[in-house]
Amino acid sequence: MEQVYFDHAATTPPRPEVIEAMLPYLRERWGNPSSLHATGVRAAEGIERAREHIAALLGAQPDEIVLTGSGTEADNHALIGVSQALRDKGDHIITSAVEHHAILHTAAFLEECGLRVTYLPVDGAGMVDPPDVRDAITDKTVLVSIMHANNEVGTIQPIAEIGAICREREVLFHTDAVQTVGHVPINLREIHVDLLSLSAHKLYGPKGVGALYIREGACVRSYMHGGGQEQGRRAGTENVAGIVGLGEAARLAREEMAWEMSHNAGLCSLLIRGVRQHVPEVTETGHPCQRLPNNASFCVAGVEGESILLNLDLEGFAVSSGSACTSGGLEPSHVLLAMGIPPEIARGSLRVSVGRDNTFEQVDRFLDVFPRVVERLRSMSPIVRAASQ
Ligand code: PLP
Repeated sequence: MEQVYFDHAATTPPRPEVIEAMLPYLRERWGNPSSLHATGVRAAEGIERAREHIAALLGAQPDEIVLTGSGTEADNHALIGVSQALRDKGDHIITSAVEHHAILHTAAFLEECGLRVTYLPVDGAGMVDPPDVRDAITDKTVLVSIMHANNEVGTIQPIAEIGAICREREVLFHTDAVQTVGHVPINLREIHVDLLSLSAHKLYGPKGVGALYIREGACVRSYMHGGGQEQGRRAGTENVAGIVGLGEAARLAREEMAWEMSHNAGLCSLLIRGVRQHVPEVTETGHPCQRLPNNASFCVAGVEGESILLNLDLEGFAVSSGSACTSGGLEPSHVLLAMGIPPEIARGSLRVSVGRDNTFEQVDRFLDVFPRVVERLRSMSPIVRAASQ
């Protein structure tokens, strides 16, 4: 059975061009980029070319890009690096309740270290209200970190407005753009962002590589200590092949973004229309229009998202659910709860995230299978049976 991959928000398949670009850096150009001899220089050249492609995709300068080992590391670097650099100025950071755990758990760690953290609420569409950012800033605030788009429900935050507020109040602004880089246009020449995190494996690059954009002049302490790599900003011998893969993925994303956005939006709108038509009692989640073009997310009443996921997997479709099984119980996602979705509805959450290789025919097949899966599970569900008795 052909497996249809509808989970691009979790990770994307590395593009063949990306793999081709990486191979020479595993086979022949395997030198240590810090070495002064020709073998090292060839590896270093690969890194610098990649840095240029990443910078071009963001509208940044190449030396504003610090390469990291993941999106998670970039997020840690931003929060920990700024709070340490500006310890004398203040001890307060602001973030939102719907961030990825790479931010939320880092913020919790900083609280343990004595910092104060404000977690801004979101509305029913998962959106932060920019005036809330303005109200939360105090003279002790050193950083605002609000994600660009949410990984579960796809809502795109008003980062231009938030950035303008931060600039006016002279507070550094970080955005976790792991879900948006390569998928929607970002021009850092036009919006005010001081720090931005990205991850290669979300844009058809390899896993284990990311980057942190640090605007020239922004005050950030390095987070990894050791050698002088990345101009002393991130110690550790570089993952050269991975970085070259990220560079190629960034180059391709820049060239093909317009096509990919419209392709993905077309697939998602077909999918959502079909779900509305064929599955009763479905709540769409996230913002109706300010959303990632490749994300369709909804909650199905009366069934658990994880059961739908496993049944769809048996039918050949890979999707994801916001409810995570922890010690035998289903924990509804913190994102959906923050959006005010009742836990019993949030337990039925499903995320379908499409990509460049998906076809309309695959969406049609999904729409054939999905209503049957939901109907079968509902007929077996103790919740639904009790309600109908
Ligand atoms: N931030 C967001 C919004 C994400 O979706 C993810 C990954 O799912 C991360 C951070 C972490 O990125 P990485 O997998 O590269 O550590």
